[in-house]
Amino acid sequence: MILRLDELALELPKPKNPSANDAAAVQELMGGKFGEMSTLMNYTFQSFNFRGRDRLRPFYSLTAAIAAEEYSHIEAVSYAINLLLTGTSKRGHDPVPGPLAGAADARNTHHFIASGQASLPQDSLGRPWTGDNVFSSGNLRLDLLHNFFLECGARANKMRVYEMVTDPCARTMVGYLLVRGGLHVYAYALALEKLTGVDVKKIMPVPNLSNKMFPEAREFMKHGLHRELYTFSPNAYKEAGFIWNGQHPEDGSELVVIEGAKKGVPYPVLEEEPQLNSPGEDDFDPEMFADIAKKLGLEKDLKAYRPK
Ligand code: MN
Ligand code: MN
Repeated sequence: MILRLDELALELPKPKNPSANDAAAVQELMGGKFGEMSTLMNYTFQSFNFRGRDRLRPFYSLTAAIAAEEYSHIEAVSYAINLLLTGTSKRGHDPVPGPLAGAADARNTHHFIASGQASLPQDSLGRPWTGDNVFSSGNLRLDLLHNFFLECGARANKMRVYEMVTDPCARTMVGYLLVRGGLHVYAYALALEKLTGVDVKKIMPVPNLSNKMFPEAREFMKHGLHRELYTFSPNAYKEAGFIWNGQHPEDGSELVVIEGAKKGVPYPVLEEEPQLNSPGEDDFDPEMFADIAKKLGLEKDLKAYRPK
């Protein structure tokens, strides 16, 4: 089972230049072959399908913990896309002036037609993510090799999107994912080493460019995010530490496993977009729940979500 925290893994700055085409490029990191939906679903299925996990528990735990983390990554990519899209159309209730006229020139018109100016499970060409991106052979060595390759491919794509999209909102998110993805590359390398004796880290980094070249990534590394593996569970997966231990190959810092998740931040506010009828329901008043909230002793919760 998965427990959900109503937090975002990192603080995202408000975009300086909202841009639908930047958002379209960032979609690759969501629903591309090497995007976060792929890492999430690959490790999720591999962990569900893991046979003989008692004997090979540390490998199961590592895959399961990273799978859970990837959920927070699709969330981070989604918010970056949503923030980049906020302000790319004219806000208002009147359809006559054509408040969405600019969207006709956007690379992904689905952002304005199929969604309320928000992220979709698609790649940068607008193609839907597909389960064909999931590799779950059931052979541990093959699955780990695939995961190592997948994280390296993901790293390559992140670097290219970073070079394409210069807005600090996208770059902060990419810098974060480069650091966490870099940790995942190394985690799967160590798993393969434990299994086979082969020193896989000699291939790293792939591509042959250090995360230190990215200022936003450097900032997250200062806080240890390149060496802390989280279990993303209140009571399981600590055996991942049988694999995740020793010294980081780049700076010699100590690799540690931390129980649970790193404390997140409040998610950014996504304002209403009336020109898209998103969310619509202008006449709905949260006060309508006041009586029920009182009956249930939930007045505080009603106040928490009610604006002002
Ligand atoms: Mn990821
Ligand atoms: Mn990853």
